[in-house]
Amino acid sequence: MKNTPKAKYVFFFIGDGMGFAHVALTEAYLATEHGNVPGSDPLCFTQFPVMGMATTYSYSNMITCSSAAATALATGHKTRNNIVGMGPDSTDLRQFTYFLHDAGVKIGIMTTVTIDHATPAGFYAHSADRDGYYDIAMQLPKSGFDFFGGGGFDGVNSKKIPNAKHNIYDNVAKCGYTVAYGVDDYKSKKAAGAKKMILFQADTSRVNDILPYVMERRPQDLTLKQVVASAIDFLYKPNDKGFFMMCEGGKIDWAAHDNDMAGVITETIDMDEAIKVAFEFYKKHPKETLIIVTADHETGGLTLGRTKGYTFDLSGVDVTLKKVQKEKITVDNYLKQEPVDSLSKAANIGWTTSSHTGGAVPVFAVGACSQMFSGRQNNTDLPKKIYRAMGFGELKN
Ligand SMILES: [Zn+2]
Repeated sequence: MKNTPKAKYVFFFIGDGMGFAHVALTEAYLATEHGNVPGSDPLCFTQFPVMGMATTYSYSNMITCSSAAATALATGHKTRNNIVGMGPDSTDLRQFTYFLHDAGVKIGIMTTVTIDHATPAGFYAHSADRDGYYDIAMQLPKSGFDFFGGGGFDGVNSKKIPNAKHNIYDNVAKCGYTVAYGVDDYKSKKAAGAKKMILFQADTSRVNDILPYVMERRPQDLTLKQVVASAIDFLYKPNDKGFFMMCEGGKIDWAAHDNDMAGVITETIDMDEAIKVAFEFYKKHPKETLIIVTADHETGGLTLGRTKGYTFDLSGVDVTLKKVQKEKITVDNYLKQEPVDSLSKAANIGWTTSSHTGGAVPVFAVGACSQMFSGRQNNTDLPKKIYRAMGFGELKN
């Protein structure tokens, strides 16, 4: 069995809400940028050699929420909407990240939204209520996982708990975590010997918010690309037992909930930028690295085409992006100011919902054991396959 390929370093990218159409729209935008109209210019991850699809329905609903989907992707079991890391009967399910961690694999969890939000929480927490942010935030450092990064704790805003913020940060410190604010701070704290790391934004006034949208990003703002690069720097050690990272592009979903096509495009490109960092790592360790890119569900019922006709024109996207940048409009204001649907209408882009839809999502993979991820699969198959790909056999939880 010595020559069997094994994935020692695994990157699991989840584009929250990123259906097939979100990918197609982003690639049509890239083609427009390059003057190839009509056309479709590929992202990095869509060029991966293995492609499949995954179902998304939850135990309770054809249309899943992010917490039930994250639970499926982290435990291999479907559960009810609104539940995190528990079965339909609200008993705890052990995520495969815990089994990996017990076996000496380093674990990193990162996202562009808050770190106690549904998708990241699905990989470390157990809660019957995905909105129980305080409870989830308190569970985070108890995981003992090695690296967390992205937006801060939404749990600090809990109105029912006195001193929520103090309790959460106190708990983090007690459990042996160092919190770094920005990449420079990360570097100096790592050099000072930090054992377990949480990387948040340098702008401490926004530290417990999501990472800023690409559209309103300032040069000093933390990006998923930087978080992934820091996670590799922190978790990779030659002759070690390897790592598993879950990296979420969380604002693709948020933009799609707003039916904001410019947001969907820029956030999808931004996740691709982070994937490129993983791909560079793969090129250095091709035999031992596996990258999987998928989604938890589709958001918005996005379509390329609207009520009728064959017109399609994305030239308005750049006009909007330039305006937002020039006038320093925040995404919230831009959504209020300009009926966001006018941009979709002009482009002939359709939306059917401001919520999620029940269809399948794409799966892309490259590297060690990547062929396992081709074809049709259930979302619950993905963690089982990752566990097998990493050489640990059947996931029994
Ligand atoms: Zn959503």
